[in-house]
Amino acid sequence: MLRQLLEVAGDFSGIRRHARGTPWRIYVFSQNKRERDDACSNRYSGPAGGTPARPISADQTKLLVFSGTSHPIITLPQEMSAQTTKRRGTIPDNDMTRGPEAPEMPNPDNAALFLDFDGTLVEIAERPDAVRLEPGMEDVLIGLHAHTNGRIAIVSGRNLVELERIMPNYPGVIVGSHGAESRIDGAYTTAPEGETTAFIASRDMLRAWVEHYEGVLLEEKPVSLVLHYRQAPDRQSDCEGILSALSQVMPGFVVRPSKMAVELMPENVSKERAVLGLLEEWRDLIPVAIGDDRTDEDMFGAADANGGYAIKVGEGDTAAKYRLSGVGEVHALLRNWLETSERSS
Ligand SMILES: [Mg+2]
Repeated sequence: MLRQLLEVAGDFSGIRRHARGTPWRIYVFSQNKRERDDACSNRYSGPAGGTPARPISADQTKLLVFSGTSHPIITLPQEMSAQTTKRRGTIPDNDMTRGPEAPEMPNPDNAALFLDFDGTLVEIAERPDAVRLEPGMEDVLIGLHAHTNGRIAIVSGRNLVELERIMPNYPGVIVGSHGAESRIDGAYTTAPEGETTAFIASRDMLRAWVEHYEGVLLEEKPVSLVLHYRQAPDRQSDCEGILSALSQVMPGFVVRPSKMAVELMPENVSKERAVLGLLEEWRDLIPVAIGDDRTDEDMFGAADANGGYAIKVGEGDTAAKYRLSGVGEVHALLRNWLETSERSS
């Protein structure tokens, strides 16, 4: 199958002649381990100028065979992508892992970027305080901040202090705690719900409660309380139960699930509201939202409704138009967008 695909790919060398510098790449999906190993072993090489094969997804079923220019992110023209996959008949239409789906970046002068953090810019760690931003990525964010005239926001469920600790030099907008906290042009705001007696009493109660559940972590945010059960997955229903009970006595608070965690937070706080608030200031731009979790679906809707689009990271149902397989592909996309911006400025 690989050999046949490479023959098809040979026809694609015309793209380079007709659209000089246009990046592109070809994916191969294969259940056959030997074919995947062959692709990874560089036994196959692309047309002149192509780069060798490399795997691009953790499960190794999706492989980058070769690319047409030195740019890391490539969008094969849609009709060619469809033609390739259809001809081989290996990918059902509803396959969530299919690619290539990385979109072109809008002109930086017209773009507003909304980036989730955990699972999008950094790999999810066993403990939330153990995440590390890959060296160089903060500089990419700083570069995008400059090229978008500051129209870039990190929109995270994590609290603001933590985000500032991890990205001490990034000067742009940070929205923390799903929108309950923000830093915009150096001005800090925090929603007031965290100062109520009920909130403080619930926080104190949960501090005692987690002592009895080994592996369950309480994350205290200014306006919300999170129970992480990644290290104790059998405690999911206990965590949901206690927060659900507390929500009954905390008017205006709701329980929202996320990846291996459950959060008690104000009902009127969401990433959607945060993005819509920023778009009131950042007018006439194309919003692009990137995220991996259920709470990101809110901001996906906001981007979509305002003439932009969303990119889902990883597997799972989504309303997003595009999908990337993981954090590594997000980094590659952002690097590519920055390079494109630098070339065109
Ligand atoms: Mg996330």
